[in-house]
Amino acid sequence: MTGTSGAPRVLYAATECAPWVKTGGLGDVVGTLPEAIRAAGVDLRVLLPAYPALRVAIRGRRLATFEGAVLSETTLPSGVPVLLLEASALFDRDGGPYQDRQGRDWPDNAERFSLFARAAAWIAGEETSLGWRPQLLHCNDWQTALAPAYLRFMHGSDAVSLMTVHNLAFQGLFSRDAFQSLQLPEAAYAIEGIEFYGKVSFLKAGLYYADAISTVSPTYAREIQRAPMGFGLEGLLAKRHDVLHGILNGIDVRLWDPARDPLIAAPYDCDQLETKARNKRALQEFLGLYPDPHVPLFGTVSRLTHQKGIDLLLSVGERLVSLPGELALLGQGDKDLEEATLAFAQKHRGSAATIIGFDEGLAHLIEAGADIFLMPSRFEPCGLNQMYSQRYGTPPVAHATGGLIDTIADFDPRGGRTDGSGFMFAEPTPASFFSAIERAVAAYRDTVTWRQLQKNGMHADFSWDASARHHAALYRSLIDGRERSQQPPT
Ligand code: ADP
Repeated sequence: MTGTSGAPRVLYAATECAPWVKTGGLGDVVGTLPEAIRAAGVDLRVLLPAYPALRVAIRGRRLATFEGAVLSETTLPSGVPVLLLEASALFDRDGGPYQDRQGRDWPDNAERFSLFARAAAWIAGEETSLGWRPQLLHCNDWQTALAPAYLRFMHGSDAVSLMTVHNLAFQGLFSRDAFQSLQLPEAAYAIEGIEFYGKVSFLKAGLYYADAISTVSPTYAREIQRAPMGFGLEGLLAKRHDVLHGILNGIDVRLWDPARDPLIAAPYDCDQLETKARNKRALQEFLGLYPDPHVPLFGTVSRLTHQKGIDLLLSVGERLVSLPGELALLGQGDKDLEEATLAFAQKHRGSAATIIGFDEGLAHLIEAGADIFLMPSRFEPCGLNQMYSQRYGTPPVAHATGGLIDTIADFDPRGGRTDGSGFMFAEPTPASFFSAIERAVAAYRDTVTWRQLQKNGMHADFSWDASARHHAALYRSLIDGRERSQQPPT
């Protein structure tokens, strides 16, 4: 492996990468951010488990073995170099990356992801035969979060570590017994370490041992320093606030571009917003909704979970259809929410449709065909769909939390603001949510106002550029800080 001389060398460890392996926003981020960071002058390489979907799509060149796993090197179509960790007994299986087809966690997740994290630390930590050694190890979510602990306890490692939290609700909690297999010193099983209320917390290890922490929006970075958003880790995060950074996510503006989207019925840009109506018609037809061009069509694409406020959506559902309004909902997740959303659509056939499943094409058509996008998340580290929807001229109605606050300008005609691009509500309650929906519908009825709102969102810059620059600067300052601390005092 050859490096780009002078550029900071970064190993970016993650366990999803769109379009091959994606369970949510993390997959989208890993599929796009690395390319943008490289364009900002960083010699970044991605480390991924060699899931079947990746192995089939991208052939690797064998480089080394580590604890019985094979490390191979390859390049993504985007040009981003990738290291794949092949351990067929651990990663080569049918189902999701973390769960089987029935939605049950794989019983050996601690073993799977501790090996992955050890491999990341090994690459960053010692003189390997790879010929390329990162100066910084960038970890993403609990699946990679043991790596900073391994680095810390490894002899001779001078690599710095950065732990990014994409969603603090997922912590990688395992029983105390799992600790024995992790190959960490006994001392690490402590409150000042990996222990979390009698269990092992992979994420806490990352938050505790990493040199710096980041999360995916500035507002979420503040929120997680307090209960309840800190999910029990707020004390540790508040203590480390001086190394905690909020770097706002972007989106893939090439993949999510209404002017060039092959997955929608009729491409359009902000000067041809009339064409958007053809997407609405196509969506209504596809879902069996009444093909009324005037009724506001609400769209949602989401994991069906408590976090995403799907229960709030159901609580306002009756009022929403009797506005009148229509609802197009795509998602999968908790079985009770899947059943409840299906029952709602059944009851309001023609006005509401629920599709259970993960469907990239339909997600694009909903963004393009809906008039208004609904995002009543109880908490949202960053959220991507509200950015997609603004780019598609589909203003969002969203709970004022986390990254939603940082990416949506609330439309407030009374305040004289003309830059609004969506509708925020303060409390995650049906009443607060529905009053924002009513504000959105009132604006929708006023064509001039609505066009302005749509254009405001479509003109916003949601590209990865700012995030990539921010990451490159953070990498440089962390690496410089480590180098300075290693120089003998003069
Ligand atoms: P989270 O990562 O919490 O699920 P985000 O908004 O950050 O939420 O990212 C979700 C991503 O997954 C978006 O790209 C969204 O379009 C996609 N997505 C979620 N559910 C589905 C689904 N059922 N079908 C297609 N895409 C989905």
